[in-house]
Amino acid sequence: MNFKRAVIKVGSALVSPEGKGCSGKYLLAIARFITECHQQGKEIILVSSGSVAAGRNLIQHGSPELAIQTKQAMAAVGQMQMMANWQRFFDIPCSQLLITHGDLKDRQRYNNIKNTLRILLANNVLPIVNENDTVAIDELKVGDNDNLAALVALVSEADSLFILSDVDGVFNKDPRTHSDAQLIPTISKITDEIYAMAGATKNHIATGGMKTKIEAAEKATENGINTYIINGTTSEVFEKILNQQQVGTHFIAQKSQTKAKKHWLKHTLRSSGDIILDSGAVNAVLHKGASLLPSGISAIQGQFKAGDSVNLIEECSNTIIAKGICQYSSHDLARIKGHNSDNISKLLGYCNSQVVIHRDDLVII
Ligand code: GLU
Repeated sequence: MNFKRAVIKVGSALVSPEGKGCSGKYLLAIARFITECHQQGKEIILVSSGSVAAGRNLIQHGSPELAIQTKQAMAAVGQMQMMANWQRFFDIPCSQLLITHGDLKDRQRYNNIKNTLRILLANNVLPIVNENDTVAIDELKVGDNDNLAALVALVSEADSLFILSDVDGVFNKDPRTHSDAQLIPTISKITDEIYAMAGATKNHIATGGMKTKIEAAEKATENGINTYIINGTTSEVFEKILNQQQVGTHFIAQKSQTKAKKHWLKHTLRSSGDIILDSGAVNAVLHKGASLLPSGISAIQGQFKAGDSVNLIEECSNTIIAKGICQYSSHDLARIKGHNSDNISKLLGYCNSQVVIHRDDLVII
């Protein structure tokens, strides 16, 4: 259970155990765990549910079955309560990112989220993510924070995803109805049988939210991210995690993260254009593990937007040496190519990033 960058998803059952208003009951131990992780040099991104539950007392509602608009208003007021509740447990600043599936599907917005997370982590700020429930309509929603957390783990390139709730993990039978049910400590492949064991086939409504947790584990492990379903109601589990002891159910990453990412960059993303590099930039990218700077660019071919994938081409041999996600459009790159990064703002009137392609977004071919 060794990890360097983890997404921790905290469910409503922990944020708001009574289902109305925020509580510190379980969050103190979670916050201590996060602080301990920070002290060990690990990076943490929190995905927190609970805005609707936190706002429940503050918006008038009649029947227990809430109208969407009522829930959206509860989320708007509850999000503030929830963030304030988290902040009181940390000395470091917390930051809020409210996102929808629509944001994650849009390359440029995806890129903005990724860059923001990168900078927040580098500045020792705790990112706290939730779905933007107030604006999201069904088609643009992730819908549940388990799947949202898996997507956040992908965007942030986390190596681990911890899904904390009030269940111990996946059991071979429903533990509420079978006294002999046993916890499954490790799952190396997610099959229909696993969904069935969790008491939720893919076509049925989840029992205890296990279906969405397994869906999240499937998304994450396919992309090289180890996933754990853990009971966050007891502080001992956090000690165990820090001591690298087995807790809950561990879904084993299907391939290494680097391999998954390389595959995605190389085979899934189609290049929209080419960037031609001088020999200095080729050397820096190939042999020094460097990001691509505007100063090493000799020419640009094709038209692309910021966030698109591009080929990096060695000028003298005219061969593709790498592929990466570009922070600038072809139009803007044409204006900054050959220049020092410090001049980007002056030349463009804005500076998205000091580098044209970040090292983490680049794969050597
Ligand atoms: N975004 C919802 C909220 O903050 C939670 C969704 C979920 O728990 O899966 O209330």
